[in-house]
Amino acid sequence: MIYLDNAATTYPKPESVYKAHDYALRNFGANPGRGGHSFSRETARAVFQVREKVAKFLTAKCSSQIVFTSSATEAMSTVLLGSLKKGDHVISTSMEHNAVWRPLKYLKENKGVELSFCKHIRGHIDLKDLKEQLKANTKIVVVNHVSNVFGTEQDIKEINKIVKEYSKSKVVVDVAQSVGEKMINATEWGVDALIFAGHKSLFGPVGTGGFYLKSDFEVEPLKIGGTGSSSESASVPLCGPERFESGTLNTPGIWALGAGIDFINEKGIDTIKNHKRKLSGYLRNGLEELKATVYDGGEKSSVISFNIGDMDSTEVAFILDDLYDIIVRAGLHCSPSAHKTFGTAKQGTVRVSPGYYNSQAEIDILLDAVAELKRG
Ligand code: PMP
Repeated sequence: MIYLDNAATTYPKPESVYKAHDYALRNFGANPGRGGHSFSRETARAVFQVREKVAKFLTAKCSSQIVFTSSATEAMSTVLLGSLKKGDHVISTSMEHNAVWRPLKYLKENKGVELSFCKHIRGHIDLKDLKEQLKANTKIVVVNHVSNVFGTEQDIKEINKIVKEYSKSKVVVDVAQSVGEKMINATEWGVDALIFAGHKSLFGPVGTGGFYLKSDFEVEPLKIGGTGSSSESASVPLCGPERFESGTLNTPGIWALGAGIDFINEKGIDTIKNHKRKLSGYLRNGLEELKATVYDGGEKSSVISFNIGDMDSTEVAFILDDLYDIIVRAGLHCSPSAHKTFGTAKQGTVRVSPGYYNSQAEIDILLDAVAELKRG
């Protein structure tokens, strides 16, 4: 099998991630933070170590600003549903994943939240329009850093600067696609929340993700229940990650996520990015030579979206899987409005997302398969 769907989740993971998962399941087997016994404390310490690691990786000032969740989706839902109320205004873009779109649509239809979208230039926020759309009741501007379909990248630092200069709005950034491949600088960007997936470019297992939250950003928890602390109280803690982490944590997943981050630090984020970019650039040239249609927002990205003439994208992906054992994703990739933006809402696109473990020889096999498909 040639796996080229790393934007859905990375596969395979580094060997150290598999080992860490196994190690934690065997050795950090108590419930972290539940009960004062030494095994629980040791397990909680392991979780804390990874929290510190994530904080350092995102340049957060303090590890208590990092919350673990089961996915980027849970993280995004927590921040959006926990902070937007009737009469609030939120601004977003047409390039968002359903993890953003669906809660926003829900809030608009059920909670009286006002929603508007920025104009865009080839999938990039039109900064002048953003400035004009900011209002006194704008509570949140939520954007992704890099699109999981077309690889468009937003200038987060500039967006944050404009929003803060002209409004009191918070800035929430979905870094699910970019974290682990691009430097994410929470402190330098100055944004209020970052939403991350653990299982994509951070090499963690599925079922991991989380968010960074600035201390002055008031968000209600999505889940309410046991946290192992202040058990006598009817409420979850008022601050810190525990406020959002009711229920037993995924210790093996979190520990293995830490191993994924170690792997990136050892290899170097640029080495990983450059390898993926080299493969996607090579693929892109090959596809263009074959006269396939490649879609992007103008920048080099590690994801390549393409179509072969007017062939249905899901049919192309099915044939690649069935006849050539090549795994790619097709359709709308949970981002229907991004496809509307690029005019591919009907056909969808075939998305190829090489990972650190793919080789040029594998891309050649894919290109040969596309050439055969084109010949019919
Ligand atoms: N946002 C973006 C940009 C994504 O690419 C993804 C995953 N494809 C998500 C959010 C959702 O991530 P998760 O699967 O961890 O919920």
